[in-house]
Amino acid sequence: MRNDCFALPPGVNWVPLDEAKERLRAVLPTVSDVETIAVGNGARRVLSQDVVAQRSNPPAPNSAVDGYGFAFAALSNADHHSLPLVDGRAAAGVPFTGSVLKGNAIRILTGAILPDGVDTVVLEEDVQIDGGRVRFEGLPKPNANTRKAGEDVLAGQVALERGTVLGPQGVALLTALGVSEINVYRKLRVAVLSTGDELVEVGTDISGDHQIYDANRPMLLAMFERLGCETVDIGKLPDDPVAIEDALNKAAASADVIFTSGGASAGDEDHVSQLLREKGSLASWRIALKPGRPLALAVWNGAPVFGLPGNPVAAFVCALVFGTPALAKMAGARWQEPTGFQVPAVFQKSKKPGRREYLRARLTPQGEAEVFQSEGSGRISGLSWAEGLIELPDGAAQITPGTSVKFIPYSAFGL
Ligand code: AMP
Ligand code: MG
Repeated sequence: MRNDCFALPPGVNWVPLDEAKERLRAVLPTVSDVETIAVGNGARRVLSQDVVAQRSNPPAPNSAVDGYGFAFAALSNADHHSLPLVDGRAAAGVPFTGSVLKGNAIRILTGAILPDGVDTVVLEEDVQIDGGRVRFEGLPKPNANTRKAGEDVLAGQVALERGTVLGPQGVALLTALGVSEINVYRKLRVAVLSTGDELVEVGTDISGDHQIYDANRPMLLAMFERLGCETVDIGKLPDDPVAIEDALNKAAASADVIFTSGGASAGDEDHVSQLLREKGSLASWRIALKPGRPLALAVWNGAPVFGLPGNPVAAFVCALVFGTPALAKMAGARWQEPTGFQVPAVFQKSKKPGRREYLRARLTPQGEAEVFQSEGSGRISGLSWAEGLIELPDGAAQITPGTSVKFIPYSAFGL
């Protein structure tokens, strides 16, 4: 990556959120190494090539139900139909190899290939069987209860496009189409480190109340694992520029992208931003976003660095809002904007203009959005209480119970 890729044009000192995301999207590189893997191991992997169907789905016309099949053309316009049944039956995996004469019918089960002479099926619930005949009322539609060959996907068609993040549903599709191996981008490697003299590793001894457990690093590692990345845990560092520099070197050598937390603003102990400014072409974007402070973006030995705020709530929101689409792009997928939906609020809030705001929120059983009792950004419990974020627009907003607000579930960020 070019060292100055995050630099803002002269004169820009305040970036609306959408513009910040657009700028980021434009400069982030994409992993280029690819590997071939079994489709069954493909969940959360990103396709590096279009995948073409090796076979049609379904491969042959077949029955969609358990019932009785015949040629539609043999039916009269009468209200009652009575067709003699041929010996034998057609079942999934055990086709009927003979022909069904016009005017005759055959027992057929779901998934069975339509035998020669059959184009229409009536449901077994809709018929009576007696004396070797099948009787039913009313004229079915031609081709009723059947599936055409290739009606889902035709052999030779592109089934999934390059850049698709494969899920269980894609694994099913490709398998049905006879695809056993796929080409995917290698997993994106994401390094995570925390900074702060107050941090201790959970499970180790605390020497006093001035110490807190490092919550951000496990949070971010869990988030990036969930997104399908390979994570590299660089550990926690004291507020010491030499130690942080070493850690950044290690991170850049072992990962494609680096996330740090803490020390990212301009205080005495904000060594991450100082160091990145001196040696990593820091671009500190003042983004109109709450919660979140300036997003520190830098390039360290060629690897992009996202300097997240230390506050866990702000770190979480920034990682969701910027990190998840950025990682998707870098991993070879599309820059993915989370899809939210409008729901009525059951809370009250007066929002000032000037920045996008995210509230920890969840839906009531009635599908209305409620927010966490406190907007305090130190309240880590609110992240777990919530099931997503309410996104309030950049402008002013008056919210009272019943006002329509945009709710974005965590799952829309890939969590
Ligand atoms: P900083 O951004 O370094 O000024 O930190 C802001 C706040 O977040 C301070 O209260 C820190 O103690 C807290 N904090 C920083 N890093 C972490 C972390 N890894 N886990 C939990 N809290 C943190
Ligand atoms: Mg700190």
